[in-house]
Parts: sequence; structure tokens; C-alpha cells
Amino acid sequence: MMSDQSIPLSKPDISALEERLVLETLRSGRLSIGPMVERFEAGVAEAAGCAHGVAVNSGTSGLHALLLALGIGPGDEVITTPFSFIASSNCIAFVGATPVFVDIDPGSLNMDPAAVEAAIGPRTKAILAVEAFGNPVHMDTYARIAARHELVLIEDACEALGTTLAGRKAGSFGRAAVFGFYPNKQITTGEGGMIVTDDEVLADQCRSIRNQGRAAGQVSGSQGSWLTHERIGYNFRLSEVSAAIGVAQLQRFDSIVEARRRVADNYMQRLMGVPELVLPTVASGVKPSWFVFVVRLETRFAEAERDRIIHGLRAHDVGSAAYFPCIHLQPCYQRKYGFRKGEFPIAESVSHRTIALPFYAGLTTRDIDLVAQTLEVMISREHLSR
Ligand SMILES: *Cc1c(COP(=O)(O)O)cnc(C)c1O
Repeated sequence: MMSDQSIPLSKPDISALEERLVLETLRSGRLSIGPMVERFEAGVAEAAGCAHGVAVNSGTSGLHALLLALGIGPGDEVITTPFSFIASSNCIAFVGATPVFVDIDPGSLNMDPAAVEAAIGPRTKAILAVEAFGNPVHMDTYARIAARHELVLIEDACEALGTTLAGRKAGSFGRAAVFGFYPNKQITTGEGGMIVTDDEVLADQCRSIRNQGRAAGQVSGSQGSWLTHERIGYNFRLSEVSAAIGVAQLQRFDSIVEARRRVADNYMQRLMGVPELVLPTVASGVKPSWFVFVVRLETRFAEAERDRIIHGLRAHDVGSAAYFPCIHLQPCYQRKYGFRKGEFPIAESVSHRTIALPFYAGLTTRDIDLVAQTLEVMISREHLSR
């Protein structure tokens, strides 16, 4: 258990505005399929530079619904990254398609564009790109590759709301993109997600899939077709209460992102002089909204040393995590697809050395100094034990 003095890995930024809109929603009597969801959809679509938003109950269900709507299924291959949160690949497995991993570029931590192109084959249906830790670098290149090969680009932008690349918003590169609103993301709805796209037909298919296969636009109690199901759909709906949190978060979005940028700048200043660490790189043309703050140890550090450093931080009440273990080496992926160690050496090497540090809007300079001091002590312990 962490003490009261502990610094958690993340913390949602919730204000009186979220409280007020939630209370108003509770009192409105309308708890599902109502005006808050519509407001939230319009707001996120705008923040992503897209025409349509389809709210869902998680980022994972958003990806699932999107792959179904795109008709991706058994026999199809989807090119994706092994260096991500597992949901970006699980959605491919959900629909019975095959994930084809490619190695990452060690600078951006996103898929190496040349490796993406080399992995395209006759069964390739889509490229599912993830903005790793919110970094949009190469998204424009993937879009060009997809266009050239007549493939669909799906953007898992769950870590990237509010980020831009050369002025272009994360979420606007793919045929469609998905955001997630789990409490550690830039904005939260508790649980929630959003599909965004310029394609109205695709948006309506996603609306139908999320609402038990009803035709888009069906409202409970409306004439006729509430009990007519055009396809076998899911219940991926987001509640009005959750959407109310999201609407408030969006109203405060600029100040939330500003606060995250300040914290990231403070970390950069404080950790710049630590020779054992590689700090996150922000490429020119990128304006990050900062999902997490992940540093990594130099290449001479082994996974076991990194793990001990993380345990040491936690033992001193400093939240820390190994973002992310490679997906192809997760037990379920090794078992189902037969992946082995060494297949994607850059992703594996990076993922063995990453350390996510506490990161949220309220983190003070004093907190950051405490985190940095503790980290330095844990690193020097590893030196001493050599
Ligand atoms: C957070 C996240 C998701 C979605 O997560 P949910 O918890 O289902 O909202 C999907 N992909 C990536 C890369 C993520 O970081």
C-alpha cells in the first residue's frame, strides 16, 4: 500500500465542472442515448479534425466496432506494432483476422515505415498504426503507404488526443481513428472511447454495431424499429453520465493539455543531465499533448535491472510501470500465433528498458524533484551491484 505521501503513476484531472454536469445529467432523467453523448461526439470529432464521432464504452470496443464495420475478418492480415498496449492488437484477434507485427523505429517508437511496406502481402487488408505514447511521427507516411497499396489506415489514437504533426491533428490521418478515455488518458470519462471519421457511411455502421445492430439514429421508444436489428451487434454504448464527464473535460481541454506540457517540460529540465537515461524525443513539427512520461535506460542496462529500478521506485511510493511489454511476447499471443523472442529486436530492446514515471496535471516541481532523486538513487544502486 502506498502512503498518503505517495506520488501515483497517474491521476485524473476532475474539477467542479465535471461534478456539476454529472449532477445535472443524473437529475435530467436521461441516462443513456441523449444530448450529452451527442455533445461529446461533436466535441471529440472537432478536437480530432474529423466530421463524425461515435462514442463507445471503451477504446477497445471502439477498435472492435471499427474493424467489424470495415469488414475485416478471417483470412485478412492487419499490419501493426508489437510495442503498444495490448488492445491495439486484440481487436484484430476479436474479428478473426491475423496481426502481422513489424519492428519499430527506435526514435519515434512507432512502426518503421520501411518495415510496414515490406510486410504488405496479398492478404493485407489494413495498417493499424498506434501513436506510441501519443507520438504522431510517421502517421503521414503510413497514410501515403496505405493509399499507394489501396489499404485502409486505421489510427489507434488512444494515447494522442490533442497532439498535432505539422499542424495536422492526431485522429485525422486514418480512414478512421479511435480514442480512449480511461482515467490515465489526456481526458477521461471513467471508461469510454470514441471512433472518429470523415466517412458518414462508416460512422453509421459503427453506430449500428455499438447499438445492438439497430439502424443508426434509432432512439429508444421511437416509432417502429427499436426492436428491429439489421445485424448482430453489440452493446458498446457510452452512458450519458460518462459523456457528461467527457463534455466537461473537453471544455477544460486547453488548460489540461497546457498543464501536462508544463509537467513534461519540468521533467525534461530535471532529467536532462542524467547520463543513464534516454528522454522522450519530440520531433520537429510535433506538438505533443503528453499521454505519459516514459524514459528509458541506456542499452547497457538489462531488463532485470530495469525491473529492480521500477520496484525500488514503487517501494519508495513513487508510481512507475514498464510501458509496454511487447504484445507478441504476451503469453496469449505466443500461444495463439507462435511468436518467439527475438522476432522484433528493436521493440524488445526498447520495451526492456522503459520506465514510466508519475505523470498528471497536478504534479509539482517538488514532486518531480522527489521522483528524479529516487530514480537517481535506484540507478546508482544498479551501478554499485555490478
Ligand atoms: C488506452 C488504449 C486503448 C484503449 O483502452 P480502453 O481501456 O479500452 O479504453 C487502446 N489502444 C491503446 C494504444 C491505448 O493506449
